Amino acid sequence: MKVVYLDNNATTRTAPEVVEAMLPYFTDLYGNPSSMHLFGGQLAKPLNRAREEVAALIGADPSEIVFTSCGTESDNAAIWGVLHSYPQKRHIITTRVEHPAVGNLVTYLSKKGYKVTLLPVDREGLLKPEQLAEAITDETALVSIMWANNETGVLFPIETLAHIAKSRGVLFHTDAVQAVGKIPIDLSRVPVDLLSFSGHKLHAPKGIGVLYIRKGTPFTPFIIGGHQEKGRRGGTENVPYIIGLGKACEMARKHLVEENRRIRKLRDKLEEGILQSIPRVIINGSRKERLGNTLSISFEYVEGESILMHLSNLGICASSGSACTSGSLEPSHVLRAMGVPFTAAHGSIRFSLSVYNTEEDIDYVLEHLPSVIRRLREISPFWEKGESARSA
Ligand code: PLP
Repeated sequence: MKVVYLDNNATTRTAPEVVEAMLPYFTDLYGNPSSMHLFGGQLAKPLNRAREEVAALIGADPSEIVFTSCGTESDNAAIWGVLHSYPQKRHIITTRVEHPAVGNLVTYLSKKGYKVTLLPVDREGLLKPEQLAEAITDETALVSIMWANNETGVLFPIETLAHIAKSRGVLFHTDAVQAVGKIPIDLSRVPVDLLSFSGHKLHAPKGIGVLYIRKGTPFTPFIIGGHQEKGRRGGTENVPYIIGLGKACEMARKHLVEENRRIRKLRDKLEEGILQSIPRVIINGSRKERLGNTLSISFEYVEGESILMHLSNLGICASSGSACTSGSLEPSHVLRAMGVPFTAAHGSIRFSLSVYNTEEDIDYVLEHLPSVIRRLREISPFWEKGESARSA
């Protein structure tokens, strides 16, 4: 069966070049970098090179890169690390549309007595920088705002937001898990203090993440142990994965602009094709301020899960904007925060592309999706009622 993988915001294929770069570090070069003997010593150079590649992708200094196990750990380390450094400050500002790696953590913190401000977004998923300025108080320890939304691809104006926080003397963290490798990032220009990202979103394996900590940022380690990562994250370095991430970052940096232009064209072709062939669809999120690889689209009066199952039977992998909670399908918190109508939020699908997608992939989806939606609407009682209500 033909397989068309369009769920790259969930995870990406590990690039064959990345796998190849990693392999010797499982077999011959398996030492512990802390060991004094030959096996440890020979790892210093390749680890440094990988750190340099990771730093180069985001315009950082290699000393500002801390390797972690995933994006979630990086987000937790950033938030806890700052809160522990400012125990007297008990206020955090974030948004209503963060990934659970930040969203569920701040919910937990609010139960522990922290004051949490959740900035709202508008119908396009955008937020107003003035709202951040208004929310900052003397109590604010940290602002944490994602760079790109994982569901809609909507981009927040991180440079402006970080300047606002900086001008008020408040530290700024961004969850850039969906942004790194997809848009150019230059931290020598953008004054964020902490930034998280994750290897498996940019063709490195799962199990490796990065926390960028700007020089001079107060930070208490989240994982306390050995002296690794200059005391900022204990635990023996995951050498093969760090090497793999270095390779993935090198590839992303070299091909970012041209590949993302190509991917954006494919995404736009998919979007236009759907709009032309299927009635009653809604694009979720700003079409202007959006990642080039992401398309969140709602098909009114059908359920996202049913669409996914039909697509999956055709070998097409995407994801839906609903979460199955206590047996009922709840539209995602992101779509709810944007005020997407219930009938549309339920039928939302996210397509997310990568460097491995081709024109044929998009043609294949456009060939099959209209009939999937038509068939599902034919058996949907809501479609009938919705259509007759509109024509009445
Ligand atoms: N933040 C965002 C925006 C994400 O999309 C994800 C993963 O989907 C994460 C954090 C968590 O990253 P990880 O899966 O590496 O823990």
